Amino acid sequence: MNVADTDRMELILFHSGYRRTQEKEDADLILVNTCSIREKAEQKTFSLFGGLKPLKTTNPDLILGLTGCMGQQDGENMLKRMPFLDFVLGPDQVEGIGRAVDLARESEKSFVWTGFDSEKKYSIPEIPGDLPKKPGPSAFVNIIKGCDKFCTFCIVPFTRGREKSREPDELYQEIRHLILHGAKEIILLGQNVNSYGKRGLTNPMPFHELLYKVAEIPGLQRLRFTTSHPNDFTKETIRAYRDLDVLVNHLHLPIQSGNNEILKSMRRDHTVEGYLELIDELKAEVPDVSLTTDIIVGFPGETDAQFKDTLNVMERVGYSSSFMFSYSPRPGTPANEMQDSVPEEVKRQRLQETIQLQNRLTEEQGKDFVGKTVEMLIEGNSSRPDYSFKGRNPQYWRVNAKGDGSRYHAGDMVEVHIDQASGHGLSGVIQ
Ligand code: SF4
Repeated sequence: MNVADTDRMELILFHSGYRRTQEKEDADLILVNTCSIREKAEQKTFSLFGGLKPLKTTNPDLILGLTGCMGQQDGENMLKRMPFLDFVLGPDQVEGIGRAVDLARESEKSFVWTGFDSEKKYSIPEIPGDLPKKPGPSAFVNIIKGCDKFCTFCIVPFTRGREKSREPDELYQEIRHLILHGAKEIILLGQNVNSYGKRGLTNPMPFHELLYKVAEIPGLQRLRFTTSHPNDFTKETIRAYRDLDVLVNHLHLPIQSGNNEILKSMRRDHTVEGYLELIDELKAEVPDVSLTTDIIVGFPGETDAQFKDTLNVMERVGYSSSFMFSYSPRPGTPANEMQDSVPEEVKRQRLQETIQLQNRLTEEQGKDFVGKTVEMLIEGNSSRPDYSFKGRNPQYWRVNAKGDGSRYHAGDMVEVHIDQASGHGLSGVIQ
């Protein structure tokens, strides 16, 4: 979401005459688009601003802005902690970035804009004219913003507000525009994409219907979406995997914990059994689907046995990759009021065990690709010596490929014979 928001701000500023600089020392304006989902992300932001402060001292005309969820959560405190900032903007103020920069130029005083947009509709209007950069072969499209789920550990509903969907016609127009400019793969984005169409549309429309409609857009070669919530993931969406060739065989479906009591305490509102039922049904329809997830270990009250339940579910599902974290309390969330009872050392051990298991699962699945041919969308040049191109296969594995650099280009869909698997990456030769 932050990448998409950053791109949008760049587009708006581009039409006010701003161009991206390669070096921060050359910039008249520096924006840091922040994330507050975990404590570590926040610490990184503070240290980044620590490095930017001297630039402001040598060039007082430099405008420094903090945008994103940290601003939303703690706007005034950000200014107190970093008085050299010119402004703080929340994620719902992305469309106002041009006005904010103008105001910062004219005014001596720093300001905070963190109001939620009060419009009933969620719209990201097209800005006609040139683009600051050519869209890559794979492009994000926001379809819904906000979240109504209020998982007890998560700050997102407080920083991004309630769910609101964009009108389908606006989405089709944006996707056609991106394809016209070179995009081959579209990734539909939202905190909970499966809740698309429930609020904010003139005519409510379920998510799976959107998938069928988007799949009809000429020139679209691959379709992905992220992120999903098990409770809103419907059987019709599973059918869409079977029916739509462009919908790739990958699903990121966060489970967070493999234990029902912990899930309840997280207010995830789903059970392990319900989750596994969905997975089994999807695997029955799409046998080569690859599954990825999010996992939190060391949630308040998690016992050794409850943690083992998570490992068991990981093994049972056979995830190809996971985002794994040890729990860190986020101020402002209900879980912050719970006793953070699992000692840091135990959290570290559990995280280590989770990562080791995931590495084994990934390695086992990686081996299955060796000797086979996979389809890869070339996203650009590989940074690995001896390899020309990098991209992804439909199941979202990273692929590095050797091939004739003058014959293939970013955006080409090629077949790669895989001769090696390492971590969540494959490498081989274009056929
Ligand atoms: S569904 Fe996702 S974004 Fe929404 S509250 Fe839960 S973890 Fe946060």
